[in-house]
Amino acid sequence: MNKLSQIKKEISAGIKGSIGEHAVSAELRKLPRDLCYIYNNVMLETEKGSTQIDHIVVAPQGVFVLETKNYQGTIYGSEKAQKWKQYLGGKEYSFYNPLRQNYGHIKVLSNAIGIPEKLFVSVLVFPDETKLMIETNNAAAVGISGISHYIKGYLGYGLTRSQADKAREVLSTQNIISFVERREHVQRIKENIQKAEESVNQGICPQCGGKLLLRKGEYGAFYGCSNYPKCRFKKKL
Ligand SMILES: [Zn+2]
Repeated sequence: MNKLSQIKKEISAGIKGSIGEHAVSAELRKLPRDLCYIYNNVMLETEKGSTQIDHIVVAPQGVFVLETKNYQGTIYGSEKAQKWKQYLGGKEYSFYNPLRQNYGHIKVLSNAIGIPEKLFVSVLVFPDETKLMIETNNAAAVGISGISHYIKGYLGYGLTRSQADKAREVLSTQNIISFVERREHVQRIKENIQKAEESVNQGICPQCGGKLLLRKGEYGAFYGCSNYPKCRFKKKL
C-alpha cells in the first residue's frame, strides 16, 4: 500500500487512530493520584450498542474525555465545523470533526453517570509533532505530552464529591472490562460486517432493507439504495 492510500485509510478509519495508548497512559500517570482517577479503553453498553472511549479522567475540575487521533502534519479545525482539514506532504485532506464524535461519547457518559454534560471536557490528543491550528472554547486539542498540563490547569465547573463518586462508580462497574466480553464485542462487530456483506450480495440494503440499484457516479459504478435520499447507503463495485 502506498503512503497516500495509507493516509486515506487512516483518515477514513478515523476512530481507530490509536497513537501509543501507552504513551497516553504514561502521561496520565503524571496526574496527582489522590485526586485523579484514570480509566483507559472504556467500553459502555448503551441501547444503541456499545461505545468505546480511549481514556477518561475523573478529576476534581471535571470529567475529561480523551479521544486519540493519529493524524500528522498540520490540522486546521474549529469546534462548530463539520469537517476539519489536514495538510500533509503538500496535500490537503478533510475528515469529520472529531469533536463531534467525542461529543457523542460525552452524551453517553452524561446519561450513564447522570451528571450534566457541562461537567465533561472534550480533549483530542494528537502526536506531539502534529501542528494544531484548532479553535475551541469548551474543548481542547493537545499533543500527548501536553495532556497532564492541560488537565491540571483546567478551571472548570468542578465536580461535587458525590458527582465524582458517581462517575467512578459507573466507570468501574459498567465498563465491559472482562476479556470474554471484549472478545464478544469484537465478534459482534465482525458478524455485523459479514451480515452487511451478505445483504449487499443479495441486492438488499443492509441499512434499511431497501433494494440496491446499480448506479453510475463520478468515480465509477456503485450500488446505491432505492430509498435514496432517505437512505444514503452506498457500496463501490
Ligand atoms: Zn437503504
